[in-house]
Amino acid sequence: MNSNLKKLLKLLSDGEFHSGSALGKELQLTRSAIWKLIKQVKNLDIEVVAKTNQGYKIAQKIEFLNKTKIAHYLPNKYRKYLSELAIFDELPSTNSYLTESVKTNIKPQICFAEMQTSGKGRLGRKWISPFARNIYLSVLWQFDKKIEELSGLSIAVAVAVAKALELYGIKHDIGLKWPNDILWQKRKLAGILIEISGETHHLYNAVIGIGLNIAMPKDAAKKIDQPWADIAEITQAVPERNKLVGVLLDQLFTTLDIYQQQGITPFLAPWRKLDVSLNKKITVITPMQKKIVGIGKGIDTSGQLVIEDQSNGKLFKFVSGEVSLR
Ligand code: ADP
Repeated sequence: MNSNLKKLLKLLSDGEFHSGSALGKELQLTRSAIWKLIKQVKNLDIEVVAKTNQGYKIAQKIEFLNKTKIAHYLPNKYRKYLSELAIFDELPSTNSYLTESVKTNIKPQICFAEMQTSGKGRLGRKWISPFARNIYLSVLWQFDKKIEELSGLSIAVAVAVAKALELYGIKHDIGLKWPNDILWQKRKLAGILIEISGETHHLYNAVIGIGLNIAMPKDAAKKIDQPWADIAEITQAVPERNKLVGVLLDQLFTTLDIYQQQGITPFLAPWRKLDVSLNKKITVITPMQKKIVGIGKGIDTSGQLVIEDQSNGKLFKFVSGEVSLR
């Protein structure tokens, strides 16, 4: 992102009108250069209101991610991680950034991007990631465990996200869809993508990515091909992004520590409480696009999905990462 565009966005982030000439003065640019920059703002799916005599404003304020503000919501014991936390204007993907940096041992271990240009879902799917409205974050965590013990990690992380939402004040209608979705009223509010790499003496690096919709712009939302939700709709208030991030990181760090010590077990009961597929008819879509219909029977003690074939009562199990639920 070029620095003039960034400066302009900072000025407009207050949601107030700014005249073209005032903006020009601040940025030392002509009014027509400002006009061109405003076009770039619109290309970021940010709604701009232009009025003669008043100038430009953006339809909704922007609260940029800010380390100091995030720190404010983090308990003391986790502030040590702030030196490893980086906030980027844009990245292809926060997960890709950390999976690359782990190879070269480069810090940070926690990264945010205001926007992802190639945000990732599972199995090559895309995560729609417009600028400065949502949360896209990845954390790199090293586990001293056997690989098969890490298969339940997405269950634990989904429970952590649900807990963070509850602490933020969202206490109703949250559901979890195996293996990695957080729903509100059955619509996708957040997704998780976990990528595990390399073993050295039982040490695995897990890159844990979370995308959480805060105030999804309408134009960007058109690119999402399934029902979705955002925090703004749920709370009917202007979301506090930095507060949400602080609460989320707190829950995430706590969860990852517990997972290292105790594995998936402590997360099974909280998952079951929020499991949207329990005793419901669900369709499992395999990587070869085969559809298997059955009744959701929850997860087993290792986090695998169990479904029951209605015709003969047989149980099938699925490992996460392979299949999608609809
Ligand atoms: P699935 O939902 O099939 O399990 P993933 O977990 O890989 O798939 O998530 C990727 C999918 O999530 C995309 O194919 C799209 O349907 C949906 N999606 C993409 N971006 C967003 C977003 N910002 N909010 C909600 N859903 C999204």
